[in-house]
Amino acid sequence: MSPKSVLNSAVITPGSSRHMEMIKWRRHIHAHPELAFMEQQTSALVAEKLQEWGIEITTNWAETGVVGRIKGRGGPGPVIALRADMDALSLDEKNTFEHKSRHQGKMHACGHDGHTTMLLGAARYLAEHPDFAGEVVLIFQPAEEGEGGARVMVEQGLFKQYPADYVFGLHNWPGLAAGEVAVHDGPVMAGMDTFEIEVKGNGTHGAMPHLGTDPTIVAAHLITALQSIVSRNLSPLESGVISVTQMDAGTMATIIPDHVVLKGTTRALDNDTHIFLHKRMSDLVENLCAGFGATGSVIFGGTYPATVNDSTATVALERVASTLLSEKKVHSKLPPSMGAEDFSFFLQDVPGCYFWLGNGPTEGNCTLHSPHYDFNDDILAAGASLWVSLVYQHGLSSRKK
Ligand SMILES: [Zn+2]
Ligand SMILES: [Zn+2]
Repeated sequence: MSPKSVLNSAVITPGSSRHMEMIKWRRHIHAHPELAFMEQQTSALVAEKLQEWGIEITTNWAETGVVGRIKGRGGPGPVIALRADMDALSLDEKNTFEHKSRHQGKMHACGHDGHTTMLLGAARYLAEHPDFAGEVVLIFQPAEEGEGGARVMVEQGLFKQYPADYVFGLHNWPGLAAGEVAVHDGPVMAGMDTFEIEVKGNGTHGAMPHLGTDPTIVAAHLITALQSIVSRNLSPLESGVISVTQMDAGTMATIIPDHVVLKGTTRALDNDTHIFLHKRMSDLVENLCAGFGATGSVIFGGTYPATVNDSTATVALERVASTLLSEKKVHSKLPPSMGAEDFSFFLQDVPGCYFWLGNGPTEGNCTLHSPHYDFNDDILAAGASLWVSLVYQHGLSSRKK
């Protein structure tokens, strides 16, 4: 197939036998969800299919990651990496359809089953039609959900072994019309981390608070005071979130405990804002606790940087998607999400674009991470076609490395 004949047509037609086959793969993966770094069955299925189609692969990236490479026969060109995440969540699925999870306490509630399937569909097509210029690298990544599988792959030398010019990733997006696309030039997903605050006081009898230092009242003030950082210290034109989501205090109703632990998460759309939030939180925790005669400390962990798209890659993706789907189905003015994504670790090494593919309306607030969520099989053909069209028509050049 020549690049021209891919224009304006879905390379995998909705309702075709290829689409039906992808639905089977997707439902099989959905029924057999696996958690971070333990995606053995999914990884084996991916590796088996890629090899069956004659694609050269390497395995065991970050435990279960699989990377494939297809060299185009269309002459020299850049190396374009495409990524799909494969992991599921710790969650009991509440759906009752036939392809519901067979693994208790595990569920594909974020649609990574669909991501893996769309990249497989594209891989098969590209292996059969390798007339594109340059090279494509297929990254099947483990452990996106909070465990940073992307970071581990980068640390293991992913882009040294596969020196990509650009990297692309997508996420299915409930609330965006099925098969439509949203692109962001710049930040698309927030940076995140988790925090743990410890407030230390002096435990005493619940009837004699004056004999100790009550850390619960300090923690209560702290929860409220932390909200002043975003509302009073951060510019109203910048975005940040501080959420206290867990409290752990005490053993009995009659005892004032000697310490309280607060946990939560922070988000920001750029790394400077994130550093600013950390600094203000550390100062506030220390000084507010001291004001009550207690001591406080905060530690941050689980950091994902903000996912910030490269302009050149974003323009290329937007153009390809507009050609394939029509301009009115490609949205470039939607606000970014304060959710986080470990694709950001790839973007720290290689410029690229992470975009959203509409999963259709959310019924009854059934969104990502809901026990009722399901990836929309109708968009498998559009997603796979988008990957194929991008490989054929990105119009990008090799970067000097
Ligand atoms: Zn998720
Ligand atoms: Zn996800």
